[in-house]
Amino acid sequence: MTTTLPTVMSGLTAAEVVALREEHGRNELPAARPPSTLARIGVQLRDPLIVVLLAAMVVTAALKDVSDLVVILLVIVLNTTVGVVQELRADRAVAALRRMAAPCARVRRDGVDVSVPAGDLVPGDLVRVEAGDVVPADVRVVEAVRLALDESALTGESMTVARGVDDELSAGTVTATGRATGVVLRTGTHSALGRIAALVSGQPRRQTPLQRRLVGLGKVLAAAAVALSAVVFLVGVLRGQPVAEMLLAAVSLTVAAVPESLPAVVTLALALGAHRMARRSAIVRRLPAVETLGSVTVLATDKTGTLTEGLMSVERLLLPGHPGVAVHGAGYDPAGTTTPAPDAAVRAMARALVLCTDADLVAPDGDRTQWAPVGDPMEAALLAAAGRCGVDPAERQRFPRVDEVPFDADRRRMTTVLADPDGGYLVVCKGAPDGLLGPGGPVDADDGTRAWATATADGLAADGYRVLAVAAGHRAARPRPEEAERDLPLLGLVALIDPVRDAAPDAVAAFHAAGIQPILITGDHPATAAAVAERVGLAAPGARVALGDDQLTPGAPAVVYARTSPERKLDIIEALQRDGAVVAMTGDGVNDAPALRRADIGVAMGRGGTEAARQAADLVLADDNLATVATAVREGRRIYANIRRFLVYALSGGAAEVLIMLAGPWIGLPVPLLPAQILWINMITHGLPGVALGGEPAGRDLMRRPPRRADQAILDGLIGPIAVTGALITATALAAAVWTRHAGGPWQSVLFVVLGLAQLGVALALRVHGTGQRNWSLDAAVGLSLALQLGAVWLPPLRSLLGTEPLTLAQVLGCAAVAAVPGLVTYLRARRSRPSPTRSPAAPPEAATADDH
Ligand code: ATP
Repeated sequence: MTTTLPTVMSGLTAAEVVALREEHGRNELPAARPPSTLARIGVQLRDPLIVVLLAAMVVTAALKDVSDLVVILLVIVLNTTVGVVQELRADRAVAALRRMAAPCARVRRDGVDVSVPAGDLVPGDLVRVEAGDVVPADVRVVEAVRLALDESALTGESMTVARGVDDELSAGTVTATGRATGVVLRTGTHSALGRIAALVSGQPRRQTPLQRRLVGLGKVLAAAAVALSAVVFLVGVLRGQPVAEMLLAAVSLTVAAVPESLPAVVTLALALGAHRMARRSAIVRRLPAVETLGSVTVLATDKTGTLTEGLMSVERLLLPGHPGVAVHGAGYDPAGTTTPAPDAAVRAMARALVLCTDADLVAPDGDRTQWAPVGDPMEAALLAAAGRCGVDPAERQRFPRVDEVPFDADRRRMTTVLADPDGGYLVVCKGAPDGLLGPGGPVDADDGTRAWATATADGLAADGYRVLAVAAGHRAARPRPEEAERDLPLLGLVALIDPVRDAAPDAVAAFHAAGIQPILITGDHPATAAAVAERVGLAAPGARVALGDDQLTPGAPAVVYARTSPERKLDIIEALQRDGAVVAMTGDGVNDAPALRRADIGVAMGRGGTEAARQAADLVLADDNLATVATAVREGRRIYANIRRFLVYALSGGAAEVLIMLAGPWIGLPVPLLPAQILWINMITHGLPGVALGGEPAGRDLMRRPPRRADQAILDGLIGPIAVTGALITATALAAAVWTRHAGGPWQSVLFVVLGLAQLGVALALRVHGTGQRNWSLDAAVGLSLALQLGAVWLPPLRSLLGTEPLTLAQVLGCAAVAAVPGLVTYLRARRSRPSPTRSPAAPPEAATADDH
């Protein structure tokens, strides 16, 4: 059915698109079905700790110990609910990210080239792909120029394959070189990608390195908790306590000492962090990137569209032996003027520009109030400039293109061969002046012209202009492409300006402050690169500019690399990594994909970049703005710091519970806490406040510290704080209990209340202070837990459930005063270790805290 589709070169009409979409549906693969809630509950219940609790439930049921049974049931229900809800929220965040990262396609509809989400394509659409585009659906080629495809996504074969007219391109393959126009044959599940979708969707979800490490940590902690609980059990039994009761106490203690909500906290922190980043235009394609971001030490950035606006405009056309013209106009609007007015030579150069470009301009329409580029913005700027010189893109119809050598980033030039309506053929070549004018280049010029062109191009480059040389010549017979690029007279030079982004200098300063070295790697001229680098504060005036083929010296990276081919970028990244750097790299071209994959964090441009680059990247910048990388790094650091914060909180609390049970019998408190009480405290402390800690804002100095080492253990530097805080909670709780016992009061309930409140105090002390932002969820969680803890001694049903005794208001206030001590000490320690603003940014903090990301 599909081959009979009409090939109308103006594309489908809007009405046809609507009808075809009705018939064929959207060009999307059905999302893998998420596991059912029941399946998710099943996974939670298989957690080893929950299994232990289920076993404990059986023991309590056998002993007819109803109160312990109820508390255990409560803990299981709460844990499972928190786990399932967190997983659902995390999944939802990840799905939203996936929607945002959806690719676009260039399609001709109603005679106009437009860019639409690839999901909007329908069979019959006329699409165009260029180097770097991912083929958005199965397409039959109707026009192709030097087209080669990388089909490795489907076939696993890494060699590119040449394709021509009437060939079929499969959805999901990547255009490596050349370009093509084709008719969409099949979309969605009927396309090649749909046929292999089963393979793709069947892949298991992978854990991030941090998640894997934490699973390891969880096992160690569980083993330690089991061993210590066994000691508690033995000591109790030896001292004559009932075996069943001690067994239950030991089981409860094991459960309480292990931060069982850790995996849930981490998953949620990563997924919600990624979601937050997306709201600030940084779309995370792979979740592990969130944690790697925090340890980035070098940011290799390209220039156009990242440091600069990527809004090119031609300022001047310079011709040999000619005064040249200044070009005036707004944006990409082809209406405008030149001073002086264009003469025949200027118009001939403008026509050459029109004939040697693939981009198009689209007029304002509907919501769009400005002229917009379709295709390479630089080429669009050339078209706009040509318009201002009085040359219309319709010239392309008068001079049909018969052959071409497309632009490629290694040769840095592009050549077209056109049939001249006056007879013969016209060859036009445009590209980097050094390539065109250099030895063996296509330009034929006398020494004077050559010297003028080189000096002029260098001067413009030093002022930050991007400079192109344009050459054109006549041939009587149609030349073969390789012969075409020879003996072409130089028409002139084009000086394009691409303003530096307003936010770039601040972003560069932010990276410097955060101990991250930004470096510039560009294909542009060294002088242009140096000028832009200097303007954004990336390099000092006169800094060394390494050229792409310079020897890479280990340990001494340059800050600016110019005339670098995409292949060379890979070498530079690898050299940096050998020196121990954790490298984030921005890229936009199809050839950047290998380097993007190789970098620790590949960053692609969401607007300007190619689809191939986006698919190779870990992070996509929806606004193409370098400052967004700084935001993402900050978010990565924040998440890591919050996970460490949670660990300090949960482990110090767990340690205190174990220590109390171990030490109690030796100081006259035979059974310090009943099993139900241990489980209750565990439930109210670990559950909500623990999860809420993950939502703490970024500390003020988070981006004024050096990056953490990539190999830093998650607990690095935290053992001290955990031990101190754990010991303090233990000491205050035991001291309060011993004192009450001497006074003849309800010592066990006092211990129970102090232990719970002390942990909540620590949660508040660990929060990030002085940012002006408040994580209200922590206040709410602590408030709720506080109410539950007081309810446990004040509400009769809870009292009988937990075996507590009523406390007077005075006793509760006394408990609160004592319980504040560990939190207060934690708060003061954190304050002391916070670096003062006067300290050098690279100086390590004196004492480790959770904030050391
Ligand atoms: P940046 O870091 O600024 O993004 P890049 O590394 O992407 O630059 P390229 O786009 O590969 O650089 O361009 C390298 C050189 O090739 C440019 O300086 C220019 O001289 C030339 N060039 C770029 N685009 C074209 C084109 N469409 N036609 C001809 N020459 C081009």
